[in-house]
Amino acid sequence: MNCNTPITELKGVGEKTGKLFEKIDIRTAGELLVHYPRDYESFQEPVPIAEAALGEICAVNVLVVGFPNQKKIRNLTILNVTVKDSSGAMQLTFFNMPFLKNVLKPGGCYIFRGLVQSRGAAKVMEQPQLYSKEDYRRQMGTLQPRYSLTKGLTNHAVQKAIKQTLTFYEFEAEYYPDEIVKRYQLVSPKEAICSIHFPNDGDTLTKARKRVVFDEFFSFLFLLRKNKEYSAKLANEYPMFETADTVRFLEQIPFSLTKAQKKVWQELREDMGSPNCMNRLIQGDVGSGKTIVAVLALLMCAANGYQGALMAPTEVLAVQHFENIQTYIQDYHLIFKPVLLVGSMTAKEKRAAYEKIASGEANLIIGTHALIQDKVEYHSLALVVTDEQHRFGVRQREHLAAKGKNPHVLVMSATPIPRTLAIILYGDLNISVIDELPADRLPIKNCVVNTSYRPKAYEFIAGEVAQGRQAYVICPQVCEGELEDVKNVVDYTVRLKAALPDHIQVSYLHGKMRPADKNRIMEEFAAHNIDVLVSTTVIEVGINVPNATVMMVENAERFGLATLHQLRGRVGRGAYQSYCIFVSANEKKETMERLEILNHSNDGFHIASEDLKLRGPGELFGVRQSGEFSFRNADIYADAGILKQADEAVECLLNRDESLEKPENVRLKQHILSVSGNSVDFRSI
Ligand code: ADP
Ligand code: MG
Repeated sequence: MNCNTPITELKGVGEKTGKLFEKIDIRTAGELLVHYPRDYESFQEPVPIAEAALGEICAVNVLVVGFPNQKKIRNLTILNVTVKDSSGAMQLTFFNMPFLKNVLKPGGCYIFRGLVQSRGAAKVMEQPQLYSKEDYRRQMGTLQPRYSLTKGLTNHAVQKAIKQTLTFYEFEAEYYPDEIVKRYQLVSPKEAICSIHFPNDGDTLTKARKRVVFDEFFSFLFLLRKNKEYSAKLANEYPMFETADTVRFLEQIPFSLTKAQKKVWQELREDMGSPNCMNRLIQGDVGSGKTIVAVLALLMCAANGYQGALMAPTEVLAVQHFENIQTYIQDYHLIFKPVLLVGSMTAKEKRAAYEKIASGEANLIIGTHALIQDKVEYHSLALVVTDEQHRFGVRQREHLAAKGKNPHVLVMSATPIPRTLAIILYGDLNISVIDELPADRLPIKNCVVNTSYRPKAYEFIAGEVAQGRQAYVICPQVCEGELEDVKNVVDYTVRLKAALPDHIQVSYLHGKMRPADKNRIMEEFAAHNIDVLVSTTVIEVGINVPNATVMMVENAERFGLATLHQLRGRVGRGAYQSYCIFVSANEKKETMERLEILNHSNDGFHIASEDLKLRGPGELFGVRQSGEFSFRNADIYADAGILKQADEAVECLLNRDESLEKPENVRLKQHILSVSGNSVDFRSI
């Protein structure tokens, strides 16, 4: 069995299960093996019911009291049963598991494990797992993998398929030269994969994970290095000079640039006029004012007779940039002739846009990935700007650049990383930093509260709205799946409307809405036709509505701190005092400690690193800090040490054997070619 073997050749994976796997993009044994666990369950000692904390996953060792009560509502069977131990009682609810009626006998003794919730004054668990004492003991202390699933595919089925594959799989032989393996203490590819799925303990898991992370960084940095060599040599095909347009624009806008913005603008002008093509990153925390600097560069580009493109990771953000530019054009008579190009436009609208782009009628093209599709032909693309770069892969950035003939490249990112890491990760780019916020900003006031504070929070929001401000409420997260999230946003909005005075306009936004609807809601919010916007985290990236002053986040305990920091960045973007209310559904010490970090710091990097210090090795998979490039598993914050090692290894290797020709490097060369889809041109290294 090798990486291309179809999983349907596994015992127990028939056509039907195969289809389910296909839904999560798994067709081959190779794909199955890199479907790493989302996290690991460790089975703790059962707790007395009285001590089972609300909002936590707990196990309780209990006695069934009375017969289960079963009712049917449409096609849903609901089974309720009461259980107790010496400390108290609890209600368990099961859906569509009618057979349990015959299993759960009064007086039966079991261990149930699940999320503890409350219904009125009573504690309840919905759909808990059921164990005999012996079974539970056996699992205690081990780390059990939990996988991302799809409806119909159980965790057990995935575990079984992976176990079987691990037994028969021909693993790739070690491809790093001995020296690297020894120096960085890497476990073999086989050991890494086996232990990631079924670790004996936290220590083996850490070692296995290190290998995977090292691999990811290594090939990333290797390709980056190739890029750097390449782009350093590029001549400036589009020398540009400052014109009266940018000078006048700067005089007319109602604020003056901060010192940091001025410095970056100076760097851009120098780059675009220099003998070499620009290749630059602007790093600046949320709200530092990156957009205006990019607009200046695009304006200079248009004034020099060329086309510029601005690519954003979401439609909502692309549309916002487009509207923003339209306003600038109207207010300051700028020479931009912009077009918008996003996926949700009709075929006819897109065709019209393509024509304007190809003919050169448009000199500023704003959009999403749609900008890099084959159908788009540019007339004279000389500057490519990518906003929120960390949301794209290096590849996508390159694709857009490849649309022109070596255009200038400017990327913007709010990922808070210190300079040493930025130099490694953006090795092919020069780096500019906007390290100050506009002077009119007041620091955001934060508070961390529990759910009983909700009525007060609503009152506070109503007060801000009465003063003409707007608010975001990030809706509680639901674990079961995205559809549940949708229902939740809608339900929450209904409840929030009821709690707020009638004249306050409340609306909602979630990821499952059609892009055009999302855009419309966002536009209405920006135009202040909506006062309070209830949303999932889809608004996390880039959105700029300076009139919004309250960010209330429900279930703040479920988010990574980096995400919370980004969310908080949606307010405090204007001169008004802004507020962030983090509502936590549990009052556990660890939760409070984590949230307190946010309460006390506004430094994105500090926040992200502190967050990870509080996590164990099993919790590192699938954390997906927002703003962490496109690595599948590696996390630049948690794995900064491994990143430095991989950088050193690449450097050392290339110094000795540039084209990987020595016998000890042949396998590595093959490996890199295979992971990069043969895209490395070894001659150019
Ligand atoms: P980000 O860096 O997060 O992309 P934006 O570019 O969206 O931030 O800027 C946030 C807000 O700050 C915008 O409304 C913008 O007009 C405003 N802004 C930018 N620069 C300044 C400045 N120097 N003084 C005052 N406001 C500014
Ligand atoms: Mg931005």
